[in-house]
Amino acid sequence: MGRVSARLEDLPLRADLRGQKPYGAPQAPLPVALNVNENTHPVPQDVADDILDAVALALRDVNRYPDREFTALREGFADYLGHGLTREQVWAANGSNEVLQHLLQAFAGPGRRAFGFGPTYSMYPLLTRGTGAEWVAGTRSTDYTVEPADAAAQVADAAPAVVFLCSPNNPTGTPLGLDVVEAVYEATDGIVIVDEAYFEFAPHDERSALTLLPGRERLVVSRTMSKAFAFAGARVGYLAADPALIDALRLVRLPYHLSALTQAAATAALRHAPTMLGMVDEIVGQRERISATVEALGYTPHDSWTNFVLFGGVADPAATWQALYDQGVLIRDVGIANHLRVTAGTEEETTAFLDALASVGSSA
Ligand code: PMP
Repeated sequence: MGRVSARLEDLPLRADLRGQKPYGAPQAPLPVALNVNENTHPVPQDVADDILDAVALALRDVNRYPDREFTALREGFADYLGHGLTREQVWAANGSNEVLQHLLQAFAGPGRRAFGFGPTYSMYPLLTRGTGAEWVAGTRSTDYTVEPADAAAQVADAAPAVVFLCSPNNPTGTPLGLDVVEAVYEATDGIVIVDEAYFEFAPHDERSALTLLPGRERLVVSRTMSKAFAFAGARVGYLAADPALIDALRLVRLPYHLSALTQAAATAALRHAPTMLGMVDEIVGQRERISATVEALGYTPHDSWTNFVLFGGVADPAATWQALYDQGVLIRDVGIANHLRVTAGTEEETTAFLDALASVGSSA
């Protein structure tokens, strides 16, 4: 006998979650998937072999709980990040989404606010509301940039417990100056998170917000292995901050939140950082090719320091998205009027996207 499933409305769901939509980037088995800003180049075989050996070794002790402090992995991240950082200043979790959730659980929560300049990463409001805090969206200029004085004024006005500065910004690709980070930090007593998920795709001589950490105990720089590092499926994100701030995160994480297999895989992958990051310049090249070609097709690409391009001038984004889908190319409608976003893939994937877009016809 089949059981009739209840409807969400019938369940005693928290009032503040009623009517909310879950994160929902479509996952479709299309030949060319350029919709969630992954690194579409596979992990090189020799690196994959080494990771597999490390995972196999960890599996022998899997009857025991893993190192709750993931010491070797934190040391690996500290070495990778440089800037004189030590493992006491590093935290990690299952994707930077979980890292951000830990920060919000510790520093947001009921009666508090989190703030970001919209449009920005769609998970910030969801993670914020998940802790019972209120999300406040600030504004950007029409080209999606943020200026220091205006940013500071907006933050002072909102009086948030947590500020998100996405640098460079998703879904627009826009760079963010360190002068904005400095100005925002001065304008709040709250935690300032600089989300550098895409930082490896910025020009190589750009300074990271990591350089601003000394003397700023409320500043956090978060990173991920999901993008440049080609490790999205392993779910590993991390951050650097003052050791006291990291102690706060120990209050909210689940015991043993990083599995022994995740720790082993990520630590092994980090030993191959230069190889894992070897495709970054190639991806940046494809990003530039996308910008130039969509512009030639009559669209308006926005400046991007990431591995994706947001382009405007799309008369009917839903129709263009569907036409590309029907040709086996998955990109993202991020809900910005007349815009679509595409990830820079391999040369072949990028060609498939550009050819499909050209065949869709005029942008008028
Ligand atoms: N921050 C930003 C700006 C992102 O775009 C993403 C992924 N789309 C994340 C964080 C989270 O990535 P992950 O959980 O895979 O580390």
